[in-house]
Amino acid sequence: MYDVIVIGGGPSGLMAAIAAAEKGAKTMLIEKGKKLGKKLAISGGGRCNVTNRLPEDEVIKHIPGNGRFLYSAFSVFNNYDIISFFEELGVELKEEDHGRMFPVSNSAKTVVNALINKLEELNVNMQLETEVGAIHFAIDEPHQVILKNKQTYTTKSVVIAVGGKAVPHTGSTGDGYAWAKKAGHTITELYPTEVALTSKETFIQNKSLQGLSLRDVALSVLNKRGKPIITHKMDMLFTHFGVSGPAVLRCSQFVVKELMKGRDQIEMHLDVIPQKKEHVLLDETFKAIKDHPKRSIKTILKGLVPERLLEYLLQINDIAPEQNGANISNESIRSIIADMKNFTFAVEGSLPLEKAFVTGGGVSIKEIIPNTMQSKLMEGLFFCGEILDIHGYTGGYNITSALVTGRLAGSNAAD
Ligand SMILES: Cc1cc2nc3c(=O)[nH]c(=O)nc-3n(C[C@H](O)[C@H](O)[C@H](O)COP(=O)(O)OP(=O)(O)OC[C@H]3O[C@@H](n4cnc5c(N)ncnc54)[C@H](O)[C@@H]3O)c2cc1C
Repeated sequence: MYDVIVIGGGPSGLMAAIAAAEKGAKTMLIEKGKKLGKKLAISGGGRCNVTNRLPEDEVIKHIPGNGRFLYSAFSVFNNYDIISFFEELGVELKEEDHGRMFPVSNSAKTVVNALINKLEELNVNMQLETEVGAIHFAIDEPHQVILKNKQTYTTKSVVIAVGGKAVPHTGSTGDGYAWAKKAGHTITELYPTEVALTSKETFIQNKSLQGLSLRDVALSVLNKRGKPIITHKMDMLFTHFGVSGPAVLRCSQFVVKELMKGRDQIEMHLDVIPQKKEHVLLDETFKAIKDHPKRSIKTILKGLVPERLLEYLLQINDIAPEQNGANISNESIRSIIADMKNFTFAVEGSLPLEKAFVTGGGVSIKEIIPNTMQSKLMEGLFFCGEILDIHGYTGGYNITSALVTGRLAGSNAAD
C-alpha cells in the first residue's frame, strides 16, 4: 500500500510527488504518456516558462479565473519559492519580458530532467505508460486506484493532477473530471481560454489582413452597451479565420464568457496607436498636410500604422493612396484617424477547447480547502493544477498555479 499516489505527470503532479516524498511518504507517480511533463516542455514556446517573477498580487491578478483562491496557498509556497526550488535543483533561471522566468539553458529538458532526478533521489515509484481508468473511493479505508489494465493499487491518499482538456495530444484528455464527480464534486462548465477567436468580418473572410501582426495595440472586449469589459495592451495578429496573438489570447476568455451568456457576437475595439490621443494625431496630420501639400496621403500617414493596414484603412474610406493629402476633405482625414483609434470588429466564437492553451472551468474551488488542496467532500483526496477551476494568462501563471497547488496537495496528502 502507498501513502500517496499522484495521478498525472505534469507540473502539478511532479511537484506533488516531490512534496509528498520529501515528507517521507511512500509515493507513486502514475503517468499515462511515455514522458513526464510533456505540456510543461512545450510551454513558453518550448523553452519552459516555469513561473513569473512579478509580485504575488500581480501574479494573482494575472490569474483571472479564481486566482484569489490561491492567496492562502501562496502564503505557504509562492512564485519566489518556485524560483528557489528550481535553483536548489541546480536549474539556473533568467527573467524575460513581463516577468516570465525561463531556464538559462533555454531548454525545457533541463527543467523536466531536474524534476525527474529529484523524484529518483526521493525514491518515488514512477510508472510511465500507465493509464488510470478509475478510482474507487472508500471511507475509513484506503482508496483504490484502478488502471486501465485492471491492475489495482491501494493508497491512503490520492492526488488527482491529470490537467484539463486543452491540447489533448499531450495527455490531458479530461479523465479526472469523472473521478471528481464520483467523489461528489461539482465540475463547473468547461470552456476554452487563451484561445484564438473567429470572425465573419469581410476583411477576415476575404483575407485582406491575413498574416498582419500589430505591435503594442490596445484591444478591448465590449459589453452589450459597447463599454469595455477588459483591455489588453500587447501584440495581435490577423489570421485566415479571425484574430490571434497575445492580446487576443488574453481577451479570449472574456469573449467566450460573453458568448456563453447567449450573445451571438461580441464587438472588439482596437486602438492601433494607444500611446497617442486622437486629437493629437489629428493635429499632427493636418499640420503635415499643410506643410507638405503635394505629398500623397499614404506618405503623410506612413509610419503611423503598418503599410498593409494603412492601405486597407484608406480603401475602406474610399481614398486612393496616391491622392494628395491637401485634396482630401477634413471629414475623410478625421474618419481615417478615427479608424486607427477605434477600429471595431465582431467575433463570433473561438477555436475549440482542444486548440486552446488552457481550460476554463473544472473542479469547483468551493469544495477544496484552500491551504491544503484537500477535498472538502472526501477524506484523502487532493486536487492540483489545471483540473481545478483556476486559469490564468499564459506567461507562467498557469504553471505557477500548478506548481503551488501541487506543492500543497503533495505535502498535505503525505500528512
Ligand atoms: C502550447 C502550450 C503552451 C503553454 N504555455 C504556457 C505558458 O507559457 N505559461 C503558462 O503558465 N502556461 C502555459 N500553458 C499551460 C500550462 O502548460 C498548463 O496549465 C499546465 O501544464 C497544467 O499542468 P497540470 O499538471 O495541471 O496538467 P498537465 O500539464 O496537463 O499534465 C497532466 C498529466 O496527466 C496525465 N494524465 C491524464 N490522464 C491520465 C490518466 N488517466 N492516467 C495517467 N495519467 C494521466 C497526462 O498525460 C499529463 O501528462 C501552455 C499550454 C500549452 C498547451
